[in-house]
Amino acid sequence: MFSAINRQMKRWVLRHYKRRPLVLISDTTLRDGAQMPGVRLDAEQKVAIATALAKAGVHSIDVGFPAAGDAEVEAIRQVARAVRGPVLSVLARTKKSDVDLAVEVLSEVSLLKRAVTLFIGTSPLHRRYKHQMSRAEIVRTAVDAVLAAQPEFEMISFGAEDASRTEPEFLHEIYKETIQAGATSIGFTDTVGILTPSKAAEAVRRIQDGVPNIDDALIGVHFHNDLGLATANTLACVAAGANIVQGTVNGIGERAGNVALEEVVLALSLHGDEFGRESTVDPKALYDLSRLVAKLTGVVPAANKPLVGENIFRTEAGIHQDGLLKHPDTYLPYPPETIGAGPVRLVLGRQSGRSAVRHHLEASGFKPTDEHVRLVLEYLKGEAHSPADDEEVQAMLARIRHHMTVEQAAPAGAAPALGDVG
Ligand code: MN
Repeated sequence: MFSAINRQMKRWVLRHYKRRPLVLISDTTLRDGAQMPGVRLDAEQKVAIATALAKAGVHSIDVGFPAAGDAEVEAIRQVARAVRGPVLSVLARTKKSDVDLAVEVLSEVSLLKRAVTLFIGTSPLHRRYKHQMSRAEIVRTAVDAVLAAQPEFEMISFGAEDASRTEPEFLHEIYKETIQAGATSIGFTDTVGILTPSKAAEAVRRIQDGVPNIDDALIGVHFHNDLGLATANTLACVAAGANIVQGTVNGIGERAGNVALEEVVLALSLHGDEFGRESTVDPKALYDLSRLVAKLTGVVPAANKPLVGENIFRTEAGIHQDGLLKHPDTYLPYPPETIGAGPVRLVLGRQSGRSAVRHHLEASGFKPTDEHVRLVLEYLKGEAHSPADDEEVQAMLARIRHHMTVEQAAPAGAAPALGDVG
């Protein structure tokens, strides 16, 4: 009787969530992200990242895979003690021993803030070579694991590993059975990052049509970036009705990485008209979050990485510099403060033009003539590195000072304000 009421309540809560114009962001930087070769995060670093994720507003954090060993278990415990706000989830294989371990490591977290993700490979490749199990055995194993987790978890996610290469009718069957057993969300994972946006969206629509009890569970998606399509695939699934997006900060993770959460969050925020659903994360927190994860993992995003690469708000090209000086929006899709980043920087180099040089000189306190600007351009196109480093900028300023009257020259020692715009 009591469990029947409980179940009804749960159903009501889930349906409420599904109706809200919200995309729940689930972070797996500490688990899938930390699986990236060369990344090693200790417990203290994991606590720092999880704290920043909570502050940014992620809905849930995949804190780790307890079966990976004692260090992992200890790190999960420390995060669970220190972090408040998001749902804390751990990964478990569909085995009783993994479920028991999940219960144990999260025992101090309240029922409404702890979750477990139970996963098993569902594709023909995984069934045959990894698990050596039939379809029926895979379903039974998954259902048994969900039932084992039931008494200790209100939130149970069933993750079909390699879902994107699983026969749709089998995928739908295992989702139906695990939801029936009590899973509150189901994960559609593109483990090897092979899908395209239209196929990804189609998969979500098929799940909605082909799983009869899908209203009783949230749909989560988990993409890898092997074709550079993870963000596009994720957004296509959101448009098709996915409720939960799982990814990592800076897109770190196995091989080409996971979907970069900052990209998804910003796209949802800038294109509210298209998606009609906001993420739970504050875009203004994204830049600092990225910097923190880069610092602690040692994985620095490529200079041209969307949102967080070094060049995103930095330009050397003359035409762009001229436009940016006239109005920052001319060559930017969004102002840097949208994601909490610093000002646009115009760097001086071989490609710089007159207006950027003039801007630099004026910003440094000079009153340059056309001839002074020409001298600097000549220097930039000749001897200096491109872009010029701080020392070279100083040397250049010292040199043109010789060609200036007292009124034209900035006071000696005036610091050059290197091209910050707006
Ligand atoms: Mn993954």
